[in-house]
Amino acid sequence: MKGVVELKFCPNCGEATDELIDHVCKNCFIRTFKAVEALPELEIRVCPNCGAYYHRGKWIEGDLKKGITDEVVRNIKVSDLLEKTEIKLDCELGEPPGGIVPAVLRIEGEIFNQSIKEEHNFNIKIKRESCVRCSRMAGGYYEAIVQIRAEGRRPSGEEIDSCLVILAERVEGHASFVTKLIDVKNGVDVYVASKSAAQDGAREIIKRFGGERCVSPKLIGRRGGRDLYRLTILVRLPRFVSGDIVYFRGRVVLLTSVSKHTEGIYLENGMKAGKMDLSDLKFCMNVSDAEEAVLLVIYEKEVEVLDPETFKAVTLKKPLFLTESAGEEVRVIKIDDRVFLVPGKGH
Ligand SMILES: [Zn+2]
Ligand SMILES: [Zn+2]
Repeated sequence: MKGVVELKFCPNCGEATDELIDHVCKNCFIRTFKAVEALPELEIRVCPNCGAYYHRGKWIEGDLKKGITDEVVRNIKVSDLLEKTEIKLDCELGEPPGGIVPAVLRIEGEIFNQSIKEEHNFNIKIKRESCVRCSRMAGGYYEAIVQIRAEGRRPSGEEIDSCLVILAERVEGHASFVTKLIDVKNGVDVYVASKSAAQDGAREIIKRFGGERCVSPKLIGRRGGRDLYRLTILVRLPRFVSGDIVYFRGRVVLLTSVSKHTEGIYLENGMKAGKMDLSDLKFCMNVSDAEEAVLLVIYEKEVEVLDPETFKAVTLKKPLFLTESAGEEVRVIKIDDRVFLVPGKGH
């Protein structure tokens, strides 16, 4: 009978309806509808030390509440009939979190174009357990030692600090950690929990400061049929640093770059020094040892400077890097009783 709607009656409320869902009318169905069946017992492992939580086989450092919400969503079965579903979780986590935490799960959505809200009270059990990282840290675990040294000298405190900052950044990027630092005669030894983090850090140090890297693996045992190695990574910083003043074939050179190539300028005139072999260089002093002096007069090709030790006027060639004017302070160094201007702070 086309075009004729067959009326049915809801056995629950007795209303006439053209469609029965689960044997009742739409209104009765919505009234008794449950978006979520019973909530499962939920246990979450949380590291009391760093706050990381265990999720799908991994320790995750992140917002614990978000982690718990993800875990809850993963463990509940929401009815397929619910549309535009939104799920929120409210819970008060202690500091540090632990024990039984009461929580409220709020679900909103639409069923047959009608909005519904649902609330479920339940408990989350938070189990305190040290994460892999924290237990390794506590146990002094390490896979590599980065030895920071310099060729023919001890690295300066400043250099060591810069190297440690670079290393720490890289190690953190790998979610690893430094187990210990040991000052040794010629530098510092850094114990790092992960090989790849140590390698990465060592590479970055060389990239910034130059020098070379030497990696030696040491067999420490076997686990699961595989050899276990520890690495010793020797980072040897270059003999000279930028700012060192050296003798080069009888002339005085200020080194301006040491990372890829050794570059510098002759202090007597400011001209760029040609290709220099490290074996031809002899350390003299660092530019930070320069003293202040007064620039007295500037001529076309020469300048007069007041020697800060003898207080006598000295005539020097005018170097290319000179930017100061007469009467201003300049920086000078004295080598073998000879005075040299050095570039100002802007260089
Ligand atoms: Zn009904
Ligand atoms: Zn932890």
